[in-house]
Amino acid sequence: MATFLFDKIIFGPVKSRRLGISLGINLLPIESKLCNFNCIYCECGWTPGKKELKSDFHPRDIVKQKLEKVLSEMKAGNKALDVITYAGNGEPTMHPDFAEIIEDTILVRDKYFPKARIAVLSNATQIHKPKVVAALKKVDDNILKLDSAFPETVELLNKPQGFYRIENVVENMKQFEGEFTLQTMFVKGEYQGQTVDNTTDKEFVAWLGLVKAVNPKMIMIYTIARDTPSPDLVKVSYEELKQISDKLEKGGFKVQISA
Ligand code: SF4
Repeated sequence: MATFLFDKIIFGPVKSRRLGISLGINLLPIESKLCNFNCIYCECGWTPGKKELKSDFHPRDIVKQKLEKVLSEMKAGNKALDVITYAGNGEPTMHPDFAEIIEDTILVRDKYFPKARIAVLSNATQIHKPKVVAALKKVDDNILKLDSAFPETVELLNKPQGFYRIENVVENMKQFEGEFTLQTMFVKGEYQGQTVDNTTDKEFVAWLGLVKAVNPKMIMIYTIARDTPSPDLVKVSYEELKQISDKLEKGGFKVQISA
């Protein structure tokens, strides 16, 4: 399937279906994905095996220089910007200087686009690290993934490449005291003969239990929008996402749907 990699450190600005006019930052290698998950729905394709894995993160000073150049040019051209988004070819919080890069980003953002938000899309695997937590507390949109309450579903959907325990992630999410967005991908289909569906009642009830435990200020629910590495996945309909959203809203949660 035609998954793709970002070929630059800074990309866009693009109109994001979730965030508005977004300038993306890819801290991960350009020619290879780098993530400690291997989600079967990942738009960047499969995570390479350890032998092919490239961990040449972009140096902090280069990221800062490139960001400052693009922001100064956008400012000079009277361009609009809603958000600077850390996403790209994998998991941004794996960058060893992630915390320092966020500090640089805040400085540069304040200089050129003080009203722009800073967003980080993360799989929440690094929030056991105090430095990462402190950095995520400084950004405007700290968006953390949790796709299921069941280890077997996480194994099927996300394929963690190292130690991952849902209980630990949930405990670590509590450090944000609700000041974060929980992001969940809902998807159906088949993968290697197994049924994929994290929208069932059983899944929803268990997931809702975790949502209540971490009490996020926003819940972002979405489904696949582009090609996925596993070819037999299908979108969850907007109507189904709306049903999930309605149940969450009845429980007092704010929800954003991207379908
Ligand atoms: S966590 Fe994100 S980047 Fe990593 S495999 Fe999953 S979808 Fe892809």
